[in-house]
Amino acid sequence: MALVGIARLASQSPLLEAKRAVQYFEIPTRSILNKTKPNMPFRWTINPYRGCEFGCKYCYARYTHEFMEMDPNDFEDRIYAKAAAGHLLRQELAKIDRRDAIAIGTATDPYQPAERRFERTRSILEVFAKERGWHLGIITKSDLIVRDIDLFKEIARANVFHATLTITTLDVKLARLLEPRAPRPELRLDAVRKLSEAGIVVGVNPNPIMPGITDGERGLDRLAKASRDAGAMTFGGGPLFLMPSAQKVFFPFLESEFPELLPRYRELYARSAYLGRDYKELLAARVRRIRDRYGLASGVIEYKPEVWVEEQGELFE
Ligand code: SF4
Repeated sequence: MALVGIARLASQSPLLEAKRAVQYFEIPTRSILNKTKPNMPFRWTINPYRGCEFGCKYCYARYTHEFMEMDPNDFEDRIYAKAAAGHLLRQELAKIDRRDAIAIGTATDPYQPAERRFERTRSILEVFAKERGWHLGIITKSDLIVRDIDLFKEIARANVFHATLTITTLDVKLARLLEPRAPRPELRLDAVRKLSEAGIVVGVNPNPIMPGITDGERGLDRLAKASRDAGAMTFGGGPLFLMPSAQKVFFPFLESEFPELLPRYRELYARSAYLGRDYKELLAARVRRIRDRYGLASGVIEYKPEVWVEEQGELFE
């Protein structure tokens, strides 16, 4: 069968580098901004890479490799860096409304190992460092994020900017099982601390919260407290979303590491990738309680960037 669209582009992408089992490619892209469905907290997303080397067992974005006619397991071993990301962004920003929020790293991690070499995320941030008036967020599991603190400071002066570190658990052994190639939880907490000390608005996201694995009140409480102590201002949290492509990796993982949980998961996700309302409400109440205990906010912290305040000052003079 002839490959079409993104599958054809992927099959023709030049190889940038291959190390261990991981191969890196460069893939052309028509646009760098992707519009989200309505009701999302942001209107546009930017993902500088396709595929993610961190290889989290629960990763929902594996389906994006299925578009390229690849196995969900290739998601962590065949990484595609998007070509001309910064150049495309400059052109596309000129066409969209500044009031629409933009999030970087919603499908794949913008600070996965590929970023050390290919710097596609940094090229995106360099564009925003020269812009003003945007609402921008970035989310990652990597302490590599601190490399770009210089750019975050520039961006936050003239745009509303916030960074989020995903930390699913403080248990190092469990994190290694769930997220085999992602930085250890304490490195991520340390990144929260460094971002906060640099004056960047930062939060922690314990997503996805996994039934019977990371949804216990005590574990979430410990995580929220450690996040607050490190300087986090927000603490999100929602249950695991498990599409069939993600189930293909997650269920065999459960079978090997948590066999007693597999029947429950099969039942929970038999009809939908989303969990039922009862569980969602229970979990939402638990997270709300914990957040309140530590004075953490649920979402974006709105603030007036320095440059906006200066401009307002001039207007009133
Ligand atoms: S870091 Fe995010 S994108 Fe990467 S494998 Fe884990 S869940 Fe998927």
